[in-house]
Amino acid sequence: MSTDEDSTNETHWDLAPKFDFVDAHRLPFSSDKVSLKKIDTECSGPFEGKAHGRAFTHQANIEIRDLQYRMYTEGKQSLLIVLQAPDAAGKDGLIRKVLGQMNPQGCRTYPFKVPSSEERAHDFLWRIHKATPAAGKVSVFNRSHYEDVLVVRVEDLVPKSVWKERYEIINNFEKLLAHRGTRILKFYLHISPREQLERFKKRLDDPTKHWKLNAGDYAARDKWGDYREAYEDAMEKCHSKIAPWHVIPADKKWYRDASVAAIVRDTLRDMDPKLPEIDADLDEIRRLYERELDELNE
Ligand code: AMP
Ligand code: MG
Repeated sequence: MSTDEDSTNETHWDLAPKFDFVDAHRLPFSSDKVSLKKIDTECSGPFEGKAHGRAFTHQANIEIRDLQYRMYTEGKQSLLIVLQAPDAAGKDGLIRKVLGQMNPQGCRTYPFKVPSSEERAHDFLWRIHKATPAAGKVSVFNRSHYEDVLVVRVEDLVPKSVWKERYEIINNFEKLLAHRGTRILKFYLHISPREQLERFKKRLDDPTKHWKLNAGDYAARDKWGDYREAYEDAMEKCHSKIAPWHVIPADKKWYRDASVAAIVRDTLRDMDPKLPEIDADLDEIRRLYERELDELNE
C-alpha cells in the first residue's frame, strides 16, 4: 500500500489530466429534479488510484495557495466555500487536507453548531452573515445556513410555514454576497450509508476519535431518506450560477479531496486575482536601499 508521503514523490503521474471536475460534479442548471440516489458515491475520475489522486491534490493545493495570496493582496474579490454533508462524510478531513492549506492570514473556517440562545434570538442568517468573507478573504463554512432547511426541517424544529420561506431568503442572501464580489461554491459530500457505518466503527476503535461519537448520529441514520429529500429540495431550490451546488462522491477520501481541490483551483483561476498596482516609487526605494547599504559598509 502506498502512503501519502510516497504519492507526492511520484513523478510519473499526469497532474494535469484532461478532466472537467466542475462539469462532472456541479449539478446541471436545468429544471430537472435532483436525485441523490442516482449519483454515485464512489468515483475515481481521471486518476489511476489513491497515490495519483493524492499527488494531484498536493499540486493543486500549491496553486490554490498562490492564487489565494494574489486574492489577498488584490483585496477586492472574496470566496465563500460551503460544506454540507451527513456525519462522517469528511468535512473535517477535507478542511485539513485541502481548504486548511490556505494561508490563515486570508482564510478562516467557521463551524456552525446548534445555535446558542443569543443566535436563536435573531434571524437565522444573523450568525452566518458575520462570518462571510471580507474583500480579499476566504471563508469556509463547516455546515451553514443550509442547516436551517435541513436538520431544522427533518427534526421539526420550526413549523413548515417558517422553513419553507427560507429558500427564497437564502437565494436573496447569496445574491447579496455575489453582488459584493463574493464567489460562492457549495459542496455536498455524498457518502453511502454503508461507508458511513464503517467510519462510525473506526471512530469507536480509535480513542482519539471518541470525542466525535454521538448517539444522535445513529438516530439520523434512521432518517436518511428524510435528510436526502431535504438535501434534494435545498439543492433544487437554491442552485444558481452565482452559488452552485456540487455533489462530491466522498466514499473515497482521496477522491473527495482531489475533486474539491480541482474545483476550488479552477474557480480561483477563473477569478484571476491580480497583484496590486504599485504606487511607491521603486527607483527612490532602491536609492534609499543603496544608501543604507553604503552606510553599513563604510
Ligand atoms: P458537528 O458538525 O458534527 O460538530 O455537529 C454540529 C451539529 O449542530 C449538527 O448535528 C448540526 O445538525 C447541528 N446544527 C447546526 N446548525 C444548526 C441549526 N441551525 N439548527 C439546529 N442544529 C444545527
Ligand atoms: Mg458530528
